[in-house]
Amino acid sequence: MKIKDIKVKKVRVRIAPSPTGPLHIGTARSALFNYLFAKKNKGIFVLRIEDTDLERSDLKWTQDIIEELKWLGINWQEGPDIDGKYGPYKQSQRLDIYEKYIKKLLDESEAYHCFCSEDELEEMRQEQIDRGVSPHYNGRCANLLREEVEKFLDKNKSSVIRFKIQNKKIKFTDLIRKEIEFNAELLGDIIIAKDLKTPLYNFAAVIDDYEMQISHVIRGEDHISNTPKQILMQKALGFNQPIYAHLPLILAPDRTKLSKRHGTVSIRDYREQGYLPEALVNFMVHLGWNSGSEKEIFTLSSLVREFSLEKVQKSGAIFNIQKLDFINSFYIREKTIEKLTELCLPYLISAKLIE
Ligand code: GLU
Repeated sequence: MKIKDIKVKKVRVRIAPSPTGPLHIGTARSALFNYLFAKKNKGIFVLRIEDTDLERSDLKWTQDIIEELKWLGINWQEGPDIDGKYGPYKQSQRLDIYEKYIKKLLDESEAYHCFCSEDELEEMRQEQIDRGVSPHYNGRCANLLREEVEKFLDKNKSSVIRFKIQNKKIKFTDLIRKEIEFNAELLGDIIIAKDLKTPLYNFAAVIDDYEMQISHVIRGEDHISNTPKQILMQKALGFNQPIYAHLPLILAPDRTKLSKRHGTVSIRDYREQGYLPEALVNFMVHLGWNSGSEKEIFTLSSLVREFSLEKVQKSGAIFNIQKLDFINSFYIREKTIEKLTELCLPYLISAKLIE
């Protein structure tokens, strides 16, 4: 199946960062690919802030994400700072919407309250390991009588909401990785919310992708194991399934997943080190996309013409800092002396070399 053979009414894509830290280069790369895909297909690019984890989320990271994406020149048409037809675009402001769908799943017995304690879950886990079975929730609370559930809830017995995983095999076509098959039986019934007002990532993402009419979900491969769970929820709720494209992981030169221990990973840090936005954009597009030629220099506007998801590779993308330095030096040399002076000033001031 070719990407152009799949017809969708309107291309609507999104990035959905969790504001738990500064904008990471992996998220910025996903933003860039989504932005280019939307531009190329005359679609809409949405910024959605996934801040349901209140303990880990912080407004300062939402601001950092917005500022750094703007600095890179990656703009969106709908988002928390500009709103839009499908807002609000912060999950913490959408709790009523999630509650409606959690209730629907509970009413239709697609989800249930689970009252198992930590100790009981640990016992279940151990017992499964002893039997050589991979640990998963065994559905113990799925068949509680309605009266029992009411009684426990009245007594404020601590609980979570689980979604019943019924299908055994889930198949989907990923635009990059092609056919993917997953055995859902291994999952066990998953927790979708702590309570009616506290949804967890997989559930909230499914609701928002549907409510915001997202046509393509283009995100990092680290989310591939979430996709079957999300598809099962879409099926239970009668939602259309978006088209998925999972971008290859960004790997350090030692071929392990790029992380802080390998050096700088936040866009702000690159900016502070003197990298130019056009250099970072040009560098990031090579993290998984192959133009099919030797050409290395691409501006954002030329990428809008040249980029295509068909040329995104499956295998991990190696992060090569020498390449970033090479690209950055190219763009620096392109600057006029006036522009370069202007760009250098903040760095000279912060180094206290001038006042
Ligand atoms: N909040 C998730 C993250 O930051 C979003 C994943 C997705 O795109 O579905 O990784």
